[in-house]
Amino acid sequence: MKAAVIIHGGAGNWHKDSMPKANEILEKAVELGSGILKRGGSSLDAVEKSVNILENSGYFNDGLGSVKQLDGKQRMDAAIMEGKYLRCGGVMIVENILNPISAARKVMENTEHVLLSGKFATKFAVKNGIKTISKYKKPAVECDTVGAIAVDYKKVIAVGNSTGGAGKMLAGRVGDCAVIGAGLYATKKVGATVTGKGEAAIRTTVSRKACDLIEEGYSVQEAAKRAIKMLTKKTGFKSGIIILNKNGDYGVWHNTKAMPWAYRRI
Ligand code: ASP
Repeated sequence: MKAAVIIHGGAGNWHKDSMPKANEILEKAVELGSGILKRGGSSLDAVEKSVNILENSGYFNDGLGSVKQLDGKQRMDAAIMEGKYLRCGGVMIVENILNPISAARKVMENTEHVLLSGKFATKFAVKNGIKTISKYKKPAVECDTVGAIAVDYKKVIAVGNSTGGAGKMLAGRVGDCAVIGAGLYATKKVGATVTGKGEAAIRTTVSRKACDLIEEGYSVQEAAKRAIKMLTKKTGFKSGIIILNKNGDYGVWHNTKAMPWAYRRI
């Protein structure tokens, strides 16, 4: 029996001085996630709690470290998906909550919907016990969106991501993170989540594409590479992806300058 977790801290123009701290936090997150799996916990728990560490750190562009939209306000997107029954939930442009991924999970588990947005999603999150924040931290230079995938001992795959969005966004802009098939996707066999220009991920539904490539027989690493190449060829944007299959094998690919990530198999 194998279980595993993989986490990324965003594909982008990472400054080399920001990487050690990013790697340190990612290691902490992967440690927590793999500990949950080791104790027989679910992949959903591993993904949610690992991403919470990154959201709480204020170091990445998500949760406490989210960037501002052009009207000066932070608005966040997040989603979570479980591959066995294609269950998923997401929140779009929520404000002043610490853990959008946990709000996304509440949407999945406590409603019959997939997506909630704006002030309604924020209200829903608060009502469902998600902590609020009044002050954000300034994220580290060029730090980015986060995403995680886990497979538990029952072979259930879960994937999630959380973001403050991209720089210079119009107020109300929604990225790919909560768009199922674009920012993330999971099946019984595999999960994938991407990072980079959200509009390019939506236009190419790249996460779904990556999962389809696995169905077609490609290895996780080959699928990661092909999915990103396809996105870049069709849109001109650079991007990054992580993939994890039910055996705990991972694929990682990015054509941006950097994309910190961490992985643990147990
Ligand atoms: N995909 C995110 C967005 O466009 C940003 C990122 O991953 O860097 O909202």
